[in-house]
Amino acid sequence: MKVTRAQILANGITCRCPNCGQRTLFERGRPFRVNKNCRGCGLRFERGDGEFLGPFVINYAVTAFGIVVPILLLYAFGRLSAAAALSMALVAGLAVPLLMYRLSWGWWLALYYFFLPDNLPGNLEGRPGDDG
Ligand SMILES: [Zn+2]
Repeated sequence: MKVTRAQILANGITCRCPNCGQRTLFERGRPFRVNKNCRGCGLRFERGDGEFLGPFVINYAVTAFGIVVPILLLYAFGRLSAAAALSMALVAGLAVPLLMYRLSWGWWLALYYFFLPDNLPGNLEGRPGDDG
């Protein structure tokens, strides 16, 4: 089974396993707990101690540059009062990372395997140099 880059991106956007496309990224009943391995194909989601840093950076970037900076710009150009800008930035700064948590994991895995698709088990077969 060959996994294309388009499938990897589609699986990442929908928080599915990048290899088999099943909804196995998070534990059942625990929406913020990432499974160590895919229940469907065995792909290891957390490959090392710092694996959470990828989703963390995506989450931070979306929160800071997609939400907080526009709020600060609205304040800087006089469209929001200081109190409104501060309270909106505070609420967004707390809520967006929580809302983005699951997506950031899907996006991170999609990004990783988009650039390294040969690391997916589904793409290992038939690699040059493999004897079988
Ligand atoms: Zn899988």
